[in-house]
Amino acid sequence: MIVAKIGGAAGISHDAFCADAAALIEGGQRLVIVHGGSDATTTLARSLGHEPKFITSPSGHTSRHTDARTLEIFQMACRGVVNQSLVLGLVRRGVRAVGISGIDAALWRGTRKSAVRAVEDGRTRIIRDDFSGTVDRVETTLLSTLLDAGFTPVISPPALSENNEPINTDADRAAARTAAALHADSLVLLSNVTGLLRAFPDESTLIKGVSIDRMDEAESLAQGRMKNKVLAAREAILAGVPRVVIADARAIDPISRAVRGVGTVFA
Ligand code: ADP
Repeated sequence: MIVAKIGGAAGISHDAFCADAAALIEGGQRLVIVHGGSDATTTLARSLGHEPKFITSPSGHTSRHTDARTLEIFQMACRGVVNQSLVLGLVRRGVRAVGISGIDAALWRGTRKSAVRAVEDGRTRIIRDDFSGTVDRVETTLLSTLLDAGFTPVISPPALSENNEPINTDADRAAARTAAALHADSLVLLSNVTGLLRAFPDESTLIKGVSIDRMDEAESLAQGRMKNKVLAAREAILAGVPRVVIADARAIDPISRAVRGVGTVFA
């Protein structure tokens, strides 16, 4: 079983990913696909005149401020734009792909952050209209049922809160939870970089392997959105996934290459 998460950063095309996924599935590989929608949300929000807003936490972490309108736009972007593009790319290649979101059959259960601390102009304030949180539980029955019947699940955010509200959730970390719940052999996190770089953006500084006792060091090297991938890798390893690879989505056969160990391998 492989769980593969495809990113949305600049330069990533779905073609190589879908072609590789189709070949793997044709060869009998069980594959679950996960994606996010951050970049698509930003583009759609701007085109709808709802300028994206971001929150900086006291520790310096930046995340999207997902107010009620942004949550609607986030769902349109994730489910309407990104999910359907991937499903179409797979169906065109003969895969029986099924698009679902984390709220379908309460697949991804998470905890909504009821109050988010944000630093603005040097002052900390509390934001209460944010709909986001992390996935803590994955209900795998729907996924196993689909896989056993020969379908390939393509999972999109949002997740579902304890109060049954949709919540914006990080897809890398949700993919980690999903891989652990499915007892996957590998989790592959694909983005527009060759892996975790010691000195970003210098690709000659690719870190080829990270062992469990070097996770803190790996986390300190990652900036911005790479932080969530390293965190996801750590969470997956600690939850029993034997191998996580952060690898390049821009390459030919990106999933197969990653599984062969091209990228940053956490084990
Ligand atoms: P995606 O949307 O494809 O999942 P993200 O944009 O969330 O990808 O995260 C990947 C980005 O992380 C890269 O494009 C890069 O700009 C950034 N990054 C920050 N630090 C590092 C690092 N040390 N190594 C690699 N990428 C890094």
